[in-house]
Amino acid sequence: MTPQLITTDVLVIGGGLAGERCAIEAAAAGQEAMILSLVPPRRSHSCAAQGGMQAALGNCVKAEGDNPHVHFLDTVRGSDWGADQEVARIFAEEAPVAVRELAHFGVPWTRVRGGKNKYFIRGESVEIDELLENDGLITHRDFGGTAKWRACYAAAGTGHAALYAVDSEVVRLGITVRDRVEAISLIHDGNRCNGVIARCLRTGLQFAVMAKATVIATGGYGRIYGGYTTNATINYGTGASLALDTGIVPLGNMEAVQFHPTALSPSGILITEGCRGDGGFLRDKNMDRFMVEAEPEKQELASRDVVSRHMMQCIQDGNGIDSPNGRHLWLDIRHLGEKHLTTKLLEVFDICRDFAGINPAHDMIPVRPTQHYSMGGVRVNKDGEAYGMAGLYAVGEAACWDMHGFNRLGGNSLAETLVAGRVVGARVAEYASGAILQANTSLAFDALGAAEQRAQALLAREGNGRSVYEIRDALGEVMISKVGIFRNGADLESAVSEIKGLIDECSRAVLRHKGPGANPELAFALRFPGMLRLALTVAMGALARSESRGAHFRTDFPLRNDREWLNRTLAHWQPDASAPTLSYEPVGLIGLPPGHRGYGSDERIEMDQSVGQYNDAVVDAQESAGRLASVEAMGSRLPQSEREAT
Ligand SMILES: Cc1cc2nc3c(=O)[nH]c(=O)nc-3n(C[C@H](O)[C@H](O)[C@H](O)COP(=O)(O)OP(=O)(O)OC[C@H]3O[C@@H](n4cnc5c(N)ncnc54)[C@H](O)[C@@H]3O)c2cc1C
Repeated sequence: MTPQLITTDVLVIGGGLAGERCAIEAAAAGQEAMILSLVPPRRSHSCAAQGGMQAALGNCVKAEGDNPHVHFLDTVRGSDWGADQEVARIFAEEAPVAVRELAHFGVPWTRVRGGKNKYFIRGESVEIDELLENDGLITHRDFGGTAKWRACYAAAGTGHAALYAVDSEVVRLGITVRDRVEAISLIHDGNRCNGVIARCLRTGLQFAVMAKATVIATGGYGRIYGGYTTNATINYGTGASLALDTGIVPLGNMEAVQFHPTALSPSGILITEGCRGDGGFLRDKNMDRFMVEAEPEKQELASRDVVSRHMMQCIQDGNGIDSPNGRHLWLDIRHLGEKHLTTKLLEVFDICRDFAGINPAHDMIPVRPTQHYSMGGVRVNKDGEAYGMAGLYAVGEAACWDMHGFNRLGGNSLAETLVAGRVVGARVAEYASGAILQANTSLAFDALGAAEQRAQALLAREGNGRSVYEIRDALGEVMISKVGIFRNGADLESAVSEIKGLIDECSRAVLRHKGPGANPELAFALRFPGMLRLALTVAMGALARSESRGAHFRTDFPLRNDREWLNRTLAHWQPDASAPTLSYEPVGLIGLPPGHRGYGSDERIEMDQSVGQYNDAVVDAQESAGRLASVEAMGSRLPQSEREAT
C-alpha cells in the first residue's frame, strides 16, 4: 500500500519523451528521479508520432548546405516571429546531438542509400544520385516550412521507435516509474514548489510526493477540442491547469493552437506530413491540386497553419467532397507506389487499411484539418523553470519554452522533447543538487486534505446536474466551431460566454458512479474543471489578440500586426476568480527581424521601432512578468552580432 507521503529528489510528471529524457538527465547526474504517468510510459502520446524529427545533419543531397542556423531561421519563420529566438537557437544547435544520441539508444533511423534514388518533388518524379560516401548515414525527408530536407525518420513510426528506446534507458538507469498515477495539484508555498498531490487511478488513494524539483511534462491540451483532435485520449492538459491553479505561474500563448492539415476523416487519426514530404498531393472534389495555385512556391509543403487554412477555404468554397460525416478533401499518395507505402510510410498504410478500409496505393485518403498541437503551455525561462515559482519546471508540449511561437513546424516537436529533456534535465539536476528537500509536511497534508475533500464533495453531490461527459462533449463542439482555424470576434465572444456557462454547469454536475476507488468518472470529474479553465483561457486569449499570427487567424483582423502584437500572452488565474487575467511580454530578444515567412500572406503591419529599441525593453519586461534568472544570462546563446543588437 502507498504511504501518504513519499519523497524524491526530482519528480517528473509525465512519462512521454520529454519527461523521460529529462528524468534520464537528472538520474545520470546522480539525482533520485521518479516519474508519474497516467499510463505505462510506452503508451504516452509520444508513441503516436509518425513522420520525423528535425535536425540539421545535412546527410542527403536535398539536405546539402543545411546547418543549425538554417534550422533556426526556418523555426522563427514558422513561428510567425512568435518564438523566443534564443530558445530557437539553442534548440537548433542541440537537435543534431539529440538525434545521434537516439541512434545510440537504439532507434533504427532510416538511412541514406548511396546511388540512384527515386523521389517525388513538387509533383514530379525525380532521380537523385546520393553520394556513395553518405551511404548508411541517417537520411532526411522533406517537411513543411523548411528550406532543406531535415526530418530524420524511422519509417512513419518515429515516435514509437524513440519512446521505446528512451524508455529502455529509463529502465536501465533504474528510475522509479509510477504509472496509472495522476498528479492532481502542486504543493507550494507561494514561492517554491515542493512536489504534488497524486491520485492512484487503480485504487483512488491520494498521496503526497515531495521533491526538491518538480517537472511538468504532461503533454498538450488537445482534448479540450473533444473528439476533434489527433491527440490521445489522455491529452487533457492537466499539467498546464495545475500550474494555472497556483495563481502565480502563468501560461503562455494558450490561444496558439495548431490544426494539422491531414487527419483521416472522420476518425481524426493523423496521417503524417511525411506523406506530403514524400510527394503526396492534396486534391479537391474536381481532382484539382488547389495548393499549387494557392502556394506556388511551397505547394503542399507550406507550414501547417497556411495549408490548413487553404484546405478549409477550399471546403468552404464548395470544393470539398461530401460524405455522411461532413466534407473532406483527398490526400493522394497512390503515385508513391506500394513498396514505398509499405516501407517508408508503413504506419500510414496500416492506419488506412485498419481505420478506413482502404489501400492508399490504390485509393485516395479522405482528410480534413483537425486540432493537433498545443503551442501554449506553462511559461518557463530558457532553463525550463516556471515564471514565479522556484523548483518548478516544464518541458515538452506542456511547456511554453517557447521555440514554436504561433506555429510549430512539423518534426520540431519530437526534436523539442529530446533537446529540452536534455537541456532542462541538466538544469533541474543542478538545481536539485544545490537544494534541500523542504519536507514541510503540514503543507503536504493541507494539500492532501483539500484534495480528499474535493473528491468526497464530488461523490456526495446530488441533484439533476448534467454528467461531466455531456459537458465535455458540449465543450468540444464550442471549441471546434468557434475557436477553430478561422476565428472572429463575434464567435469568440459567444465561445467565452458558452464556456463560462459550462463552467457553471460543471459545478453542479452529478456523478453517475459513486464508487470511491478505480472510478474513471470521478477521475475525469476531478480534472475536467481544469480543462474548462484552459478552454476559457484559449478563447479569451484569442478574443483579445486582434491580429492574425501563425495558427491564430482572425478573419476580422487578417494581418499580422508587429506594431502592437509582437508579444506573448501570459494568463494567470487568481484563486476564486471566474476568469483568467491576461497580460503580455515581449517575445524575447530578436536576432532575425520580422519579415515575410516565404509562404502565406506577405501583408503585415510593420513594427514602428527598431529591433534595438525592442530588444532594450525585453529583459526588464520579462523579469517583471515573473521570469526567474537563468543560470546563463539571457541572450548568452545568441551569436555575438545578435547580442550587440540588444
Ligand atoms: C498522431 C501524432 C503524430 C505526431 N507526429 C509527430 C512527428 O512526426 N514529429 C514531431 O515532431 N511531432 C509529432 N507529433 C507531436 C509530438 O508527438 C508530441 O508533441 C510529443 O510527443 C509530446 O511529447 P511530451 O513528452 O511532451 O508529451 P506526451 O508524449 O503527451 O506525454 C505526456 C505524459 O504525461 C502523462 N500525464 C499527463 N497528465 C498527467 C498527470 N496529471 N499526472 C501524471 N502523468 C500525467 C501521460 O501519461 C504521458 O506519459 C505528433 C503528434 C500526434 C498526435
